Amino acid sequence: MKIIAVGRNYIEHANELKNEIPSEPLIFLKPDTALLKNNEAFYYPDFSKDIHYELELVLRVCKEGKHISEKFATNYYDQIGLGIDFTARDIQEKHKQNGLPWELAKAFDHSASISKMIPKEEISYLYNLNFFLDKNNERVQHGNTSKLIFSFEKVITFVSQYITLKKGDLIFTGTPAGVGPVKVGDHLVGYLEEEKLLDFHIK
Ligand code: MG
Repeated sequence: MKIIAVGRNYIEHANELKNEIPSEPLIFLKPDTALLKNNEAFYYPDFSKDIHYELELVLRVCKEGKHISEKFATNYYDQIGLGIDFTARDIQEKHKQNGLPWELAKAFDHSASISKMIPKEEISYLYNLNFFLDKNNERVQHGNTSKLIFSFEKVITFVSQYITLKKGDLIFTGTPAGVGPVKVGDHLVGYLEEEKLLDFHIK
């Protein structure tokens, strides 16, 4: 499986990092070795001094497809969960300044923490869905799907023009504003509406 991620998919987050609002989705990949499951601890890597959390909604792809039209895109994911797109912001900034790819800042081991996934049918307000991140009992992020620049369907349609989606792939759909650093000892808790899905520590 592969992990497909969207950058800058909420206006306020693009603004906080002083990035332009994109005219088409900004896509990057993480390998399967990036996955961190079952609320296992995230171990702070020694190659970065500025690891940031980015809470995101994650879609699970349920069938193979390419050149998917927007009208049918909703049929290509069946579950939603939460994920943290851990980002080595210091490495990313250095590479951005030099016009280089981001992989080392985004694709490192355990950079994609994911929760259990919830069947899509169990979610009432897919297009007005709240999600939250608390760091050490303080709310740091609040996202809502109505604020997405590119909807889930637009992302699926766009990506599938280039990359075949396969069953089991995960799509990280972008982070809202409020990203920030983690340090050893931090406790991250993520909610999809009222349901606590992520609950783990930085070690
Ligand atoms: Mg992200």
